[in-house]
Amino acid sequence: MTLPLPTTDTRSTCPYCGVGCGVIIESDGTQITGVRGDPDHPANFGRLCTKGSTLHLTASAPVTMATRLLQPRLRRGRGANGQRGGPTEVIDWTSALDLAADRLAEIVRRDGPDALGIYLSGQLLTEDYYVFNKLAKGLLGTNNVDTNSRLCMSSAVAGYKRTLGADAPPCSYEDFAHADTVFISGSNTAWAHPVLFRRLEDARKARPDQRWIVVDVRRTETAETADLFLQIQPGTDVALYHGMLHVMLWEGLTDPAYIAAHTTGFDALRDTVRAWTPKEAARVCGIQEVDLVQAARWFAQGAGRTPGERGRTLSLYCQGLNQSAAGTDKNAALINLHLATGQIGKAGAGPFSLTGQPNAMGGREVGGLSNLLSGHRDLGNATHRAEVASLWGVADVPANPGKSAIEMFQAAADGQIKALWIVCTNPAQSIPDQAMVRRALERAEFVIVQEAFSTTATAAYADLLLPATTWGEKVGSVTNSERRISLVRPAVKAPGSTRHDWQIAVDIARRLETRLPERLNGQTGQTTLFPYDSAESVWNEHRESTRGRDLDITGLSFDLIERQGPQQWPMPEGAATGKARLYEDGVFPTEDGRARFSAAEFRPVAEPRDARYPFSLTTGRLRDQWHGMSRTGTLGRLFGHIAEPVVEMHPTDVARRGLQDGALVEVRSRRGSLVLPIQSTDKVAPTQVAIPMHWGEEVLGGTDDKGVARLGINGVTLPTYCPTSKQPELKHAAVRIEAVKLP
Ligand code: SF4
Repeated sequence: MTLPLPTTDTRSTCPYCGVGCGVIIESDGTQITGVRGDPDHPANFGRLCTKGSTLHLTASAPVTMATRLLQPRLRRGRGANGQRGGPTEVIDWTSALDLAADRLAEIVRRDGPDALGIYLSGQLLTEDYYVFNKLAKGLLGTNNVDTNSRLCMSSAVAGYKRTLGADAPPCSYEDFAHADTVFISGSNTAWAHPVLFRRLEDARKARPDQRWIVVDVRRTETAETADLFLQIQPGTDVALYHGMLHVMLWEGLTDPAYIAAHTTGFDALRDTVRAWTPKEAARVCGIQEVDLVQAARWFAQGAGRTPGERGRTLSLYCQGLNQSAAGTDKNAALINLHLATGQIGKAGAGPFSLTGQPNAMGGREVGGLSNLLSGHRDLGNATHRAEVASLWGVADVPANPGKSAIEMFQAAADGQIKALWIVCTNPAQSIPDQAMVRRALERAEFVIVQEAFSTTATAAYADLLLPATTWGEKVGSVTNSERRISLVRPAVKAPGSTRHDWQIAVDIARRLETRLPERLNGQTGQTTLFPYDSAESVWNEHRESTRGRDLDITGLSFDLIERQGPQQWPMPEGAATGKARLYEDGVFPTEDGRARFSAAEFRPVAEPRDARYPFSLTTGRLRDQWHGMSRTGTLGRLFGHIAEPVVEMHPTDVARRGLQDGALVEVRSRRGSLVLPIQSTDKVAPTQVAIPMHWGEEVLGGTDDKGVARLGINGVTLPTYCPTSKQPELKHAAVRIEAVKLP
């Protein structure tokens, strides 16, 4: 008789969304056998959503393991025109690392360091992010290192920096319980951040007078729970916020004392919003004027309060604001409302961006975007560059701007970037305008894909596949939406010959140091810039980079997190705990200590609908799926909620076009097309359609009647990006809908 192996518990963090729930992983020493919520973790207090509670069924399951990349693989030749496919062969790690270093060094010598592009992921741990950024910006001398967080949170980063002076969400989850009004904009919290939504529901149960306002283009599951739902036209958020501020000014609901003491720029903003009467704002947004006025009153003074009394308002927002060609303006215009009413820096009040990915925040902290540097520093700031160069022991960090996600792939498609190193992400599914992305992947001379899974669409374009460990196998840190740093820990041995992402980066970096000695010599006097022997040793260097910065964590250590649990930054040396709330003293991290109003003008969507493309397409997340479904797509149970994608269309549009529920339609934009069954629903407004974002070409593929490949939902979406944040407008594209003629 074989006795079962004893079960071990390991505390870790869920690898899916930015709520950052604590999990306890149960393992038998070889396999992950169970997962339960960590009752002591302050993000979730033991709760998990459907995705988190089924992690064990995806982590070690045979069906998942069958998709794992377990050894380095080399593809010799990618077919005509660099097209994908072709067999791969297993190679040993030494050969793989030497090959990577040889090819990268050759391209740097021949075409310069900006011929490289490194594309990272909000799924990576903070330590992974840190090493890759140091490798690119410190050793190789290129700022062409960006991340899929660009598609997710960069507008929130830019919005905070423009108005508050630093990329620092000022609130905490505990603020839910203190808010009188919760203002949810562009966030289907019920599905995208389910455990947070449960906490919100708890708060409302305890506070029956709490009021929820939800703003969205689609009547989402979150909108169904609202006391006031504003179903705005796509892209009109800035008009709404300006209109609300107009009402606040007209009715004397702003906080002149706070404005005078703690802000600058209000006069210019007042001039901007003067034209945004509630009538005009409501017209542009496509809502009732009375609802806009009600929202302004509840926001400014708190629902249920009598005139003159001021309650607390907390704003929660996500991709509806961020994934927009006016994303920074939308974020800043919402923060304007908080500054104008003094709704910031106190319990239950403030602008609180919800992060999509588990470690988008950690990536931002180490400067994981092409325009940022370690410790919330800016690449465009010479002092910041010198500080980071000194910390890293290099002569300088290049000043020329690096390419953001869309720019990087466009540059590769144009032949400027010759080598792409893609880590833990699937751009051949997730970046808008897939035809352009595929051209980039085909044209690049050398593509490294560093991944846990061998089955992603991007893996098919790799010359070199490097197998990485994943959740349950690696140690390191992540930061959730409320600035809370938690640890992830290994519960089982890494399979095959997989290695940790930061280790692979270090292995290649050290080889590059010998192949490009001019990059090292004269800069450091050191033998290597990468002396790390553990994730913790990387994190300790990152910690030092935060000294004296707004996110100072010099009082924190892995050991302290073990003993005291996850902590919120900042936590400088000498602090007993992290900080739940920022700006309580009304002092902001700007030159004069004052927050700045943004007087941005309203701009409509980048691609308005017209006679040829008469529908507005929006995309969204499903409750039980995650991103491109590399993990969740392996578990049948997670298709029990929603089994297949549909295109949602308003019943009047369905009838007007002579369509029927379930009929196949072609959704076509200026970039591509896909075919889906139609679902008639009044969740979407007339002239709008909605499609879930998770499915790629495996399901939504094939070719159109001209033989052009269909490349999934992002074959249709728009790559136009916000000029400040460089985040693309994934939430809106103009499309036309036509019945598919069956043969
Ligand atoms: Fe994981 Fe997010 Fe669900 Fe929490 S809410 S269990 S972090 S997916």
